[in-house]
Amino acid sequence: MVGSAQFGLSDQWDCHVYAVDSPQGVVMIDAGSGLGEADLAAELAADFPGVSVAGIILTHSHADHSGGAGALRKRFGCTLVTSEETGSILEAGDEERSGLRRAREMGAYPKELRLRNCPVDQTFRSGEQFEVGGRVWNPMRVRGHSNDSYCLLTLIDGHVACFSGDVVFYGGVLGVINAWDSSLQGYVEDLPMLRNSGVEMLLPGHGMFTLKAGQRHIDAALQSLQSGFLPAQIGQGVVIF
Ligand SMILES: [Zn+2]
Repeated sequence: MVGSAQFGLSDQWDCHVYAVDSPQGVVMIDAGSGLGEADLAAELAADFPGVSVAGIILTHSHADHSGGAGALRKRFGCTLVTSEETGSILEAGDEERSGLRRAREMGAYPKELRLRNCPVDQTFRSGEQFEVGGRVWNPMRVRGHSNDSYCLLTLIDGHVACFSGDVVFYGGVLGVINAWDSSLQGYVEDLPMLRNSGVEMLLPGHGMFTLKAGQRHIDAALQSLQSGFLPAQIGQGVVIF
């Protein structure tokens, strides 16, 4: 982890930002809000001395995950990789579709935070493996938190790691929020894709993570979708940032 508001690594509006050693350099997962860019770069340099950044992959376009993408891409001279959906939002700097304008109005972000448009170098589609930094990634689109939310799976030391963005959190908590493109129905339709994925490391964009038996948390989320009541969601009684 090289950036995080919750763990005090970078700006107070940053999601967890991860970096994983890969054959052609470091690959970052998510970019933070852009407000903690210098802290993030310093943390990265301390954790991976002398190693260059090969790429940044985004889980979705929400500002706490994507805001720093353009500046970090420039700083590191690396490849920015997103889903087709996230890419079209970022390239247009579309604050409506990313939800930023409304979230800002609701006080979820500082007034000065803007989604700056930036070029995307490579896009991916759900279920189609791709390579960044010489490492293979398996993207799974899981709607529910946002229309453009993806889980990114890769093998680390032979174990399945799932960078789950805001799709599924520790304890099986889901990410339905008060936004136009968020719904429980998205989870009902798409989360079963993660059944039997053998996930060891579950590395979400907020809150706790685990390096062992991550599938347990995904299974708990799947189980909660079988209930007639609303499953636990992020932001209910806990501070996210
Ligand atoms: Zn989000």
